[in-house]
Amino acid sequence: MPAANVIDGRAIAEEIHQETAQRVARLKGRGIQPCLIFIRAGEDSASRVYVGMKEKTSARLGIATQTHVLPETTREEELLQLIERLNRDASVHGILVQAPLPRHIREARIYGAVAPEKDVDGFHPVNVGKLVLGDPTGFRPCTPAGIHELLIRSGVAIEGAEAVIVGRGNIVGKPMAAILLQKAKNAGATVTICHSQTRDVATHCRRADILIAALGSAQFVKAGMVKPGAVVIDVGVNRVPDLAAKGGARLVGDVDFAGVQPIAGKITPNPGGVGPMTIALLLQNTVRAAERAAGMNAPS
Ligand code: NAP
Repeated sequence: MPAANVIDGRAIAEEIHQETAQRVARLKGRGIQPCLIFIRAGEDSASRVYVGMKEKTSARLGIATQTHVLPETTREEELLQLIERLNRDASVHGILVQAPLPRHIREARIYGAVAPEKDVDGFHPVNVGKLVLGDPTGFRPCTPAGIHELLIRSGVAIEGAEAVIVGRGNIVGKPMAAILLQKAKNAGATVTICHSQTRDVATHCRRADILIAALGSAQFVKAGMVKPGAVVIDVGVNRVPDLAAKGGARLVGDVDFAGVQPIAGKITPNPGGVGPMTIALLLQNTVRAAERAAGMNAPS
């Protein structure tokens, strides 16, 4: 039985999946099959697992998928041609290029090639710009959008809260800050972002009402860095050696859960917190793209 202050990301993600499945049914009633395309290049084992999980959940919700697996040696031009073809294909609603890409491929060029209206990962500069401007017609990146939903659906008051984000990555930290900062309902936090050049990360963390750890450093956030009653969100996925575990390694988050959970107001477990929300928001973005393409009124 999890402690009462533990946010159940799997249950909240499932709530969103149910909403998405209803929207898929509505689309199918109009003869539209929502379709999400994955592109994976090279043999990164984590990418294979992530895409596999996304394919499985898509199938459960009635979203069609197709995965293009390209060799490590794929040229940038070949990848761009594939994206161009998918951009033109009206039966395709979402395109996701799974990171990491082979080193010789420039990620920014690839993300910039996906049509913004099919960019369900929210990485295209047009969608990044809309996020910063507070324009709701863009797609928000799935992990920070998922964390935002977790906060809202867990009843966390965001307006006026001190939010501290550790990590200024383009996928989590920066867009998370943009979401929490907006002058809007369920936003309006006072946001601080810490990074590797921040002088005293712990002092900033101790001020936080909402503390989001997205730096990729195993169990970095300790109890002494958390204000009693704070909401703590653990985004990190870190592989640490563990001889007793399968494959000699296990995954841990950026938060020392055992030490922090007793003093936190609310806390996400890891796994079972942010991860499931990322997939939920990806599939929500995909049905939204399909609804838009069909000229339907998209709720979110
Ligand atoms: P990233 O782009 O590498 O960014 C990491 C950030 O953390 C950087 O801004 C870095 O600072 C900062 N940082 C690193 N060590 C630090 C330290 N000791 N003190 C303060 N700041 C520090 O990573 P990301 O893509 O944002 O991902 C962050 C973590 O979230 C990773 O563990 C990743 O696996 C995980 N993640 C999880 C999900 C999910 O669905 N659960 C999704 C995406 C990412 P500098 O900028 O100064 O280098």
